[in-house]
Amino acid sequence: MNLPSKLFELQKVANKLYAAQKRIFDIDQILKNNKELHAATSAFEQAKKDATLKDFHVREKAEQEKELQNKISLSESTLYGGMVKNPKELQDLQKELSSLKKRAKQFENEHLELMSQLEAAKKTLEEKEQNLTDVKSKLEQQAITLVAEKEELANQIKISNQEYLVTSTGLPENMKKIFEDLFRTKKGKAVAIIDEGACSVCGLSIRESQIQQIKSSNQIVYCPSCGRMLFIE
Ligand SMILES: [Zn+2]
Repeated sequence: MNLPSKLFELQKVANKLYAAQKRIFDIDQILKNNKELHAATSAFEQAKKDATLKDFHVREKAEQEKELQNKISLSESTLYGGMVKNPKELQDLQKELSSLKKRAKQFENEHLELMSQLEAAKKTLEEKEQNLTDVKSKLEQQAITLVAEKEELANQIKISNQEYLVTSTGLPENMKKIFEDLFRTKKGKAVAIIDEGACSVCGLSIRESQIQQIKSSNQIVYCPSCGRMLFIE
């Protein structure tokens, strides 16, 4: 195996290593991200507050209705009790009673409306609670899967590190360093294959004499355009 093919093999291993490390980083980001849980929790809390408030309004209205009914009973007993005999006073009492009854009817309607709002709020609360439970269990399940994947990746990294060591054995130390620097700056593509006479990364045509040089010697030829090490299969 000449130097370019050896470096090309090394690049494959380095890319495997990089992909595994990148995936571990991504997994950590997913595990740290609790946006969905936050959203579900705050929707549940909001629904709880809303239901409590609606419940309070229903009780308040019931209390008001009761007070009004007491007033009506009092008016009725005064009106029909026979104590008041003055026609003007009786007329006023009649008027007051009719106005109280009108208000009672209005309160009854308001009470019904508030009760239906409370029912809707309770239904929403149930839904938000169920959603929160679902989100929690989904995230727990996801975390179990991701943690297992991380362990698997850590094992792969160990193996790939060993492979990297073996593959880079015998490489001149300066060559290894040049490769590693290039690997970083060229984002995982330090070595480019020549495909149909051109650099497969940037597309520049490579002179035949250079291709022969790559095939026959251990010398590294760099692509004149993108600066990558060239390799031919
Ligand atoms: Zn190139």
